[in-house]
Formats: sequence, C-alpha cells, structure tokens
Amino acid sequence: MFLFILAAQLCAAACALQNPAQHSDGNAEIQNVKYDGFTYKKIPQKIFKKMQGNSYPHNALIPIDELHLLEIKYYGFDWKAHKGEIIAHKKVAAELLDIFEELFEEKYPIEKVRLIDYYNADDEKSMADNNTSAFCWRNATLKKELSYHALGLAVDINPLYNPYVKGNVVEPIQAKKYLDRNKKIKGLISGPQDAAVQAFKKRGWIWGGEWQSLKDYQHFEKRDAEIYNYYNDLAKEK
Ligand SMILES: [Zn+2]
Repeated sequence: MFLFILAAQLCAAACALQNPAQHSDGNAEIQNVKYDGFTYKKIPQKIFKKMQGNSYPHNALIPIDELHLLEIKYYGFDWKAHKGEIIAHKKVAAELLDIFEELFEEKYPIEKVRLIDYYNADDEKSMADNNTSAFCWRNATLKKELSYHALGLAVDINPLYNPYVKGNVVEPIQAKKYLDRNKKIKGLISGPQDAAVQAFKKRGWIWGGEWQSLKDYQHFEKRDAEIYNYYNDLAKEK
C-alpha cells in the first residue's frame, strides 16, 4: 500500500513538472510558449479534422507532424490586439513567432489572421477577405511546381492590399485598385523599408515584392532546397 501511494505521488510530481497543456479534444500536447500570447504546438486533432479536404487534401504529401499550429497576437485595423492562428512548417515555427512578435511590438497593422480552412482553403476568398495565412497544399500560382505554401514555408500578409501581379493577372481580382504601390494605405507593404519586409528579410526570408518577372507583394518565403525538392519531386511522380 505504501509503495502504491509513493508511486502515485512520484507520478503526480513528474506529471506536474511536464505540465502539458490540455486541449478540448482531450489530447495532452506540449505547447511551446515563446512570448506571452505567442505559442506553437503540434496540430491538434480538432484542427486537423478541419484541414482534411481543405488545406490538407487527400493528395497532400507532407506529413501532418511536420506542421505546427502557431498562435499569435497582432494589431488589427482597429488598432486593437487580436489573436490569430497560423499553420507553418515546424522548422520555421519559432522564427515566425519572432517575426510576428516584432510586428506586434511595432503595432504593424494586419487585418485578419485565420486558417485558410475558414474559407474552405479557397485562396481567392481568403485573399479577397485580406486574410493573412501560410500553409495550404497547392501549386504556385500559374505554375506546375509546388508552392512554398504547400510546405508551410510561405506567408501571405494582408493579401488584398498586397496582390500578386504578373502581366494582366492580378490576384485577388479585387486588388486592382491597389496596384499603385505609393498609396498610403494601412496594411499596404510599401517597399523594402516596410517593417514586415524588414522583419522577414533579416531572418533570411524572401519577399515576392522584389521579384523581377512578377510581383507578389503579399508573399514571404523561406527557401529550403532539401525540403522543397523532396516534396516537389514526390508530387511530380504522383
Ligand atoms: Zn504567397
């Protein structure tokens, strides 16, 4: 009896030390807190169910455990603090928390930060709603190659005000009025001196607003040839 009680006490102590965050779906998962209100963790089952058939279709090749759910704070267009969710590759999870925490400190205006599954993974709808998002298993726009979004290695910021532009193609289509990049509009990424461009670039991310053959003003990606080539080749074989 004594041994049994001792064992129970030891277990209670060990469990308390580990202190896993409990989720409503009953799974105990470790939540990594980097700053107050900025965390990342494995994708909870409840979220994975929403992703399936949406951002994570049946042909998605990246294992779900390579992705993390990030919870962040951001300043909305109402200048108030809001909570947002982002799904990204686990390799960049901590770095993205640094970036979004820096933008939060600078009160950088971001309109919405919702998972693209809220829009049934319809990128056009998410962009038109000016929603900031990252992971979605899909090809790059107008290409047969995988997008860096498919690997959780790309983020689109305020996409309505920061469109993709190639020739006559503007995405989202509603963004044609934002082609003049000198307009002073809240959330419009103005150029290399913009705080978001700075926060991403100093950590080795590439800004699509500096590309020559096309402009993707909303888009930031972290190149990782090993991960990208592996899944891009795999996707071509299928
Ligand atoms: Zn993008």
